[in-house]
Amino acid sequence: MPLSIIRNDITKMKVDAIVNAANPSLLGGGGVDGAIHRAAGPGLLRECRTLGGCRTGQAVITGGYKLHCKYIIHTVGPVWQGGEHGEKELLASCYRNSLQLAFEHSCESIAFPLISSGVYGYPKASALNVAVSTIGEFLADHDMSVHIVIFDKSSYEIGSKLYSDIAAYIDDRYADENAVPRSFSITRAAEAAPTPLRFQKASKAKQKLHADECSMPAPIISNQASLADALKQIDESFSEMLLRKIDEKGMTDAECYKKANIDRKLFSKIRSDRLYKPSKPTAIAFAIALELSLPETEDMLKKAGFALSHSNKFDIIIEYFISIGNYNIYEINEALFAFDQSLLGV
Ligand code: ADP
Repeated sequence: MPLSIIRNDITKMKVDAIVNAANPSLLGGGGVDGAIHRAAGPGLLRECRTLGGCRTGQAVITGGYKLHCKYIIHTVGPVWQGGEHGEKELLASCYRNSLQLAFEHSCESIAFPLISSGVYGYPKASALNVAVSTIGEFLADHDMSVHIVIFDKSSYEIGSKLYSDIAAYIDDRYADENAVPRSFSITRAAEAAPTPLRFQKASKAKQKLHADECSMPAPIISNQASLADALKQIDESFSEMLLRKIDEKGMTDAECYKKANIDRKLFSKIRSDRLYKPSKPTAIAFAIALELSLPETEDMLKKAGFALSHSNKFDIIIEYFISIGNYNIYEINEALFAFDQSLLGV
């Protein structure tokens, strides 16, 4: 996946380059800096001494020493001073400059910690947002596999307005296990397994309303111009539907797979295999890239044997973003990560 957000210790990442949230002296410190120096061994400090420091927002590169990476890119994040002192722009330039250095050194993969979000005090949700949007801009015209590595379990607070809106949306729709399933929710058993319920369940009245909605017949084929068109498309495979929709939207293949957070190799596989069976997150990623409506998304998912269900938090979050017309895959993944769900893309 071009951009993933994972929980791990960055010193364990097997990538071409890992990024260090360093201090301006580059002579080591606490937090992730300390962990990287400890794991890399004393050779790293020796090389850092020769570099003469690094300014906030800038980045420098060294060898990887005992780590599982060729390079370590050291960048100095801004200290949070309330948000009115250019912190956001400086943090974005840490990501841009690090990515640029990685690109110049032909790196195909890179892992970032959440720069500035420890001792430097940058609020974690905002720090992640800057990371995701800046990396997303870079990936629009570069091919690289980028990981944002989040270390501590408690580090991510669901504090923003977006997340409280999503939590409320889930609360309104999360179906009780006993609720009547939507008639078109033939989700694969493994995919449909409900994740532990962390948000309040829907009230009785809401559940009743939901059950009433459930009895409505499912739209079999939506947005069809004519019966002839509908019949023609009955035998269409997922891959054929995807390629047709890309043409209809006037997109290039690259525009589509990039917007879907899917790497080029997987896209070529789907393109060349008429009967390719995507995973549910991959199928949804394409629906998002194509900016499909909810009924169109359901149609596309059906081609791959999936459906959106209200007994699954992942599905409700997807439905939320489609319903508000936000098709930014990176923002969706950021939210999915915050709610402990799998991400869209490969
Ligand atoms: P800064 O001074 O830029 O805030 P810190 O090292 O204090 O840098 O923290 C940056 C982020 O790195 C924090 O979110 C912290 O939880 C995280 N972190 C600390 N150790 C590791 C590690 N081994 N791997 C990945 N992230 C880490």
